[in-house]
Amino acid sequence: MSLQLGTYAKISWCPGCPNNQILVAFRKAVTELCESGALKEENIVAAAGIGCHAKILDYLNMNTFNALHGRAIPAIEGVKAANPALTVVAFSGDGDSYSEGLTHLIHAAQRNSDINVFIHDNQIFALTTGQATATSPKGFKGLTRPSGSIEEPIDPLRMMMNAGATFVARTYAGEFEKTKEIMKAAIAHKGMSFIDIAQPCITFFDTRDFYKDNITWLPEGHNVTDLDAAYHATKQSDGKIPMGIFYQVETPTFEQQL
Ligand code: SF4
Repeated sequence: MSLQLGTYAKISWCPGCPNNQILVAFRKAVTELCESGALKEENIVAAAGIGCHAKILDYLNMNTFNALHGRAIPAIEGVKAANPALTVVAFSGDGDSYSEGLTHLIHAAQRNSDINVFIHDNQIFALTTGQATATSPKGFKGLTRPSGSIEEPIDPLRMMMNAGATFVARTYAGEFEKTKEIMKAAIAHKGMSFIDIAQPCITFFDTRDFYKDNITWLPEGHNVTDLDAAYHATKQSDGKIPMGIFYQVETPTFEQQL
């Protein structure tokens, strides 16, 4: 079986942008799930908000919906509620869902909607050339923070665990295989699946060297059903950034109860 998930659209991300790796990982994840019979190509719907991430819809030959800024999540929740047989994925960015549309993200987790939310987290508003978002690090200098940000960034993983998401993960766009496998696990999960994807913006905030030196993966024995352990595993005292599936439990979904 060979899925034709590509489109005629010319890629317009900056050359070398790690959004390309997210796109390829997603196409491959969908292809493998379809090949195994776990998913039907015609039953997938993807949505996006506004930002560099949103261009991904142009390069996916599947049912898609481009929402307003920060509004991909309620759109995809509506699709899922109307037809629970569909598999739905919302692509979003840190500017799109941690800054503009944060309440939608939190309430989708609170409901345990059976949706997948993949955040392209480049720690800035990249499409508008580099303003700070909720995950910009302290000291970040950009158009709206010329003297450096004085705010601590949010921890999206802890936030989503607190809100009620039942699958919480983080990966790095540059780690194609691991990202693909985490996407497959998220899509297979029943309930709110959330992946924060560290995605350097090589034009306005190039963090590739930082991630190269500071990524660490959760140990094999990590207990994904232990909320307390998952919560504390998101941060390490040595400053390394842990990646992997932190938390996963099965609880009734919004759509099952509707
Ligand atoms: Fe990628 Fe940044 Fe270019 Fe946007 S501005 S396409 S995030 S490198």
